[in-house]
Formats: sequence, structure tokens, C-alpha cells
Amino acid sequence: MHLPHLIRTPLLVLLLTVPGAAAFAADRPPAPAGWRAGTGRANITPGDAVWMTGYATRDHPAEGTAQALWVKALAVADPAGNRGVLLTLDLCGVTREISDRVAAELKRRYGLPRSAVMTNVSHTHCSPWLAGNILALRVFPPEGVQKAVEYSRQLEEKMIAAAAAALETLAPATLAWGEDAATFGINRRENSEKDAPARRAAGTLRGPSDPRVPVLAIHDAATGALRGLLLSYACHNTTLSFYQWHGDYAGCAQAELERRHPGATVLFTIGCGADINPNPRGTVALAEEHGRTLADAADRALGRQLTPIAGTFASALDDVPLTFASKPTEAELRTAMEKEQPNKSMHQAWSMAITAQLRTSGDAALRYAYPVQTWKLGNLSWVALGGEVVVDYGLRLRAEHQGALWVFGYSTDVMAYIPSERVLKEGRYEGATSMIPYGRPGPWTPGLEEKIIAKTHELLAQTHPK
Ligand SMILES: [Zn+2]
Repeated sequence: MHLPHLIRTPLLVLLLTVPGAAAFAADRPPAPAGWRAGTGRANITPGDAVWMTGYATRDHPAEGTAQALWVKALAVADPAGNRGVLLTLDLCGVTREISDRVAAELKRRYGLPRSAVMTNVSHTHCSPWLAGNILALRVFPPEGVQKAVEYSRQLEEKMIAAAAAALETLAPATLAWGEDAATFGINRRENSEKDAPARRAAGTLRGPSDPRVPVLAIHDAATGALRGLLLSYACHNTTLSFYQWHGDYAGCAQAELERRHPGATVLFTIGCGADINPNPRGTVALAEEHGRTLADAADRALGRQLTPIAGTFASALDDVPLTFASKPTEAELRTAMEKEQPNKSMHQAWSMAITAQLRTSGDAALRYAYPVQTWKLGNLSWVALGGEVVVDYGLRLRAEHQGALWVFGYSTDVMAYIPSERVLKEGRYEGATSMIPYGRPGPWTPGLEEKIIAKTHELLAQTHPK
């Protein structure tokens, strides 16, 4: 029952049929049309015997489904009709090829510019391995690779279907945002997992983290019902490491909020949480507890005065030319192939991947086009950075930008970790050795932080014309 609609229809008929109505309407500026929004979703849980991703230690395919995995879409249109669509996925990573092909199809069908399609994965480690993403996680058997290729093809179709559903159900809506906080994410480079609970209790947790939980609410313009909700958090989605499909804490937060708000599609984007882990972790009960903690934060934000989005939509996307600092020698590639060491299969996969890259591309294998994307939704800006972005980027961009800004990592192309200059210098996993499972020749060349930050400010300025 939509009473406002029933009331409006006769008035509209009156305006169109009474002589002089056109002149009457032209005398006044038209009432400002509002924003529109639409949502869509598709189940992307793989079938049986598909290999999982995220951990090099898993030695056989998934055994079952503990929680369904989803692609969800949120389409928005400003009063002038400029549209954008955000796709969020319960996956560990995504490739540039997948994001670009989906965007190209949405351009063909709906005329959307490339920059108006944004892709973000939650980084759940209980999701399928995609061919080409974390490509040297281990040496997979040929039928495992074949299944991954087939899964990717179906995934693209489902991403397009979810986006299409969202774009085709655009309806008048009010968009508004707020923020709360959650603290289960801790800096994993500075706090041992074991000591963290005592450190938290004593207030002595070390290292930067970002507790903010930004929330975008989409209410039906006619009924006021909550139709969509986007929340974000900067923390690895790694409570779980078993052999079941599961969305981890982010999947639990979405499911919990959809249970509390029937009829609403709830989406999750991950922030710059590459060096942040949930704590404690290890069980489904803990993933559910962290999910409830995030859902509570979102509901607290919803319960306060939200900031309405007015103005217009704009988007930009460009690449930053980055380079890898070193080229492995023949001897290093041979050692990786032959040496008895933990995760030997991963080192072998790295050796084979780098050998193939150098043979095919030569020194071009040392270059990488790194994607930076920005959206402006009226008075709120979003930045979507590729790769596993450490927390320093989110904190720095929020501090430097004049105005409301959300920063997402794990967007468009999850090609490697993206350390800040500090983390690159310190090295260890996020700064150096994670390049092995990602199948990259070596660490990034110093200077990447300034290049990425400069490009982000440049694109933010483009989407906020003076
Ligand atoms: Zn990660």
C-alpha cells in the first residue's frame, strides 16, 4: 500500500489535463527531483570440490557450505540521471580482467562510463580461488584450474545480472550517511594474536588501526522503508580458515543486518585493513560475534541523525604506473623450484609464474598499472584503491581530504599488498614476502605511497570541480 502514490496520481492527471496547467508549471522552477537507488544480488557460492583461496596451507578443495557467498549491487542515480553501480562480493580477491569485462558489458547495455562501476571484495578467505588472483598460492591440479576458470566465467555473468537488477529497479530514494566504530580489528604487525586480548584489556594495543564503521542508508522516498544499507570496516576478513564456504565476519554482519531489517539489501565494503586482523579468531561463533559487533555499530549510526546526500554524482578512474624493485635471478627461480621448505608448492608456483611472465613480457613484467577510483555522492566522497591496502592509506587520506571521505581497499584489482612507505621499509609479510603467493617478481619500488596519494587527490579534485 503506497498512499502517497495514490494521492499523487490524480494531481498529475490534473496538471496534464487542465488548460493552463503547462503555463502554471513553467512559472515556477520544477520541484527538485531526488536521487534514485536500486539493489540486486546473486548467489555466488561455488559447487563442490572447488579449491579455496587465501591460505597457502590448504591442500584440498572445499568440503561444503557453512554460509552462502553473494555478489550484491547498489545502483544510484543523481537528480540529473548520472548513474553509478557498486558491486560488493564475498570473495578474497578479484582481477582487473573480471572488473573490466563486467564494466564493459554494463557500458554496452546501460551506457555507464567505466569509472561509474566500482567493484569491492570482502577478502573472505573461505571463498574460491580465482585463476589469475593470488595466482601463485600453490600449484593447483589441472582440473582445479579448469574449475576456477569455469567459476570465473559464471561469476562475471552473476555480477552483470546483479548490476542489471539494481539499475533496472532504480526508484526514488533518500540517501544518507553516518558513522560509528568497532574495535575487534587490531594491528597484526604490532600485536601478537595471543597477547592481544590482554593488551586490549589493559589499553596497550600497539600500531595504527581504523575503528570507523561508515554507513550509507537508502530509504524508499515514498514509504520511508530501509531498502539498502552499506557498511564498511578496515579489517582482514580472516576469522575463519576451515574448508567451508563462508563470508566470515563481513558475511555475518550482512546476514545479521538483513535479519534485523527485512526487505533491505545489506552490502559490505572493506577499507584499508591489510595489516589489521580480527581478534580473537578461529571459530564460526567468533565470526558471528564480530558480525554482530559490526551490525550493532551500523544500527547505532542509523539511530542517530544521518547526513542526507544532496548534489550530484561524479566518478573518475585512472591508473598509477608502479614498478617492482627487482627481477629474480635464474638461481633464485631454480632454488624456489627445488628447495625443501614450508609451502614448497607456493614457491614452485611463484617460480613458474615469474619464469612465464619474464619469457612472455620481458622487463614489462616489472611494471604494473595500479587502479585508483573515486566517486562523489553529493557531499560524500569515496576512494576505491586496488590491492590489499594497509591502514596508513585510509588514515592519511581521511586526514588530508577536506570533506567527508570513505576509503576502500580491495577494489577493481587485488594484485598484491599495497604497503605504505613505512611498511615497505619494515618489510616482512605485507612489505615483502606476500609478493610470493601473489606471483609478483619482488617488492614494490619505494615511492609508491606518494604516487598513489597524489593520484587519489588528483581524481578527488576532478570529481569535485571548483
Ligand atoms: Zn590478505
